Amino acid sequence: MSDLPAYERDSRLARLETSVIEAGTKNGEPFVVLADTVLYPEGGGQPADLGRVGGVTVTDVQRRDGVILHVLETPLEPGVVTVELDWTRRFDHMQQHTAQHLLTAVAADRFGWLTTAFHLGEHVSDIELDVPAIDEGQLRLLEDAVAAEIRAARPVTARRVSMDEYERTDVRSRGLPAGHSGDVRLVEIDGIDLNTCGGTHCSSTAELEAIKLLGTESLRGGTRVFYVAGERLRRRLGQEVERTALLRGVLGVADDELVDAAELRIEQVKDGARTVRRLEEELATALASQLAARAGVVSAEHLGSHDLSFMQRVARELTSIDSKRAVLLTAGEGEVGFFLLAAGEESTIDASELGPRIAHLLEGKGGGKGGVFQGRANRLSNREAAVALLG
Ligand SMILES: [Zn+2]
Repeated sequence: MSDLPAYERDSRLARLETSVIEAGTKNGEPFVVLADTVLYPEGGGQPADLGRVGGVTVTDVQRRDGVILHVLETPLEPGVVTVELDWTRRFDHMQQHTAQHLLTAVAADRFGWLTTAFHLGEHVSDIELDVPAIDEGQLRLLEDAVAAEIRAARPVTARRVSMDEYERTDVRSRGLPAGHSGDVRLVEIDGIDLNTCGGTHCSSTAELEAIKLLGTESLRGGTRVFYVAGERLRRRLGQEVERTALLRGVLGVADDELVDAAELRIEQVKDGARTVRRLEEELATALASQLAARAGVVSAEHLGSHDLSFMQRVARELTSIDSKRAVLLTAGEGEVGFFLLAAGEESTIDASELGPRIAHLLEGKGGGKGGVFQGRANRLSNREAAVALLG
């Protein structure tokens, strides 16, 4: 069947001499149609391959109206070209995809759970099974049963059969697109599965190396099972080991004490934050009493690097101790910071009148109500002039 694309004839072919038979633009992006291709177009849950055509980067491969469009980074003229496949990426897809076939077959035959959907993700893939929940024990049994089939190194093969033969064959899924005519492509895992599929697959379950089930999630009455297979699994394990080593270094404890140590640190941080809040309250009260003890009915103080909420607390305390008093507080490092003007109920100072003038002097902006005016300052060196406005 020479009219089949090269990726279907030989899923391990990574390079091919062919020719551009059509070049054009679609949605503003240049594309070519080739006489033959090793690049798989997105379909059946398997992402499109990436690679190069005539040295130009392929950004997407899609099947449209029976032809395969290679979307390119830059336009390409018709002529003879070499198509190159990003094999590392493709083999990863073959591993995740073939793992799905195996998981689907074992989940159905050993547990009676039918697969209703499949997603090949960039980091993690999943299948959806028509069972409301899967507990940890069942997940472990499924993983063990799948591992046994990987060890059995079962050959995986693909072939095309006529519609007649297809009708007479016991195939797991009968999911042909409406209006399908012509041959049907069957993919077989020797002894355990026969399914319709147009994707690319490993040649043996041994090539999956291993499948790790990562967990489950309930959705729409079914259960999604997350997994990684093959080289991805080794890479992921490597990352987990590296992360654990970093955590060991940060927390200074052995692996089995990491969670306890992290929880303890979080509790300590929370305790510390509670203590800081309490001390700030005490400090604000002490500062307010100190200011209230000073002579006169107007106070001014620069509070260093404190924030606006601390300033509000000091001002509230002070005007409640002495309702005749007004206070101008500033805080910040260098020229930039905050200011707050507060007038007690019996103070003669009008904060709404004086506040904007202080803001102007400090080259800042502010607002307020009920005897308080506060905002940002950009010229704290004018603080003395602002204090002088209070009379
Ligand atoms: Zn497949």
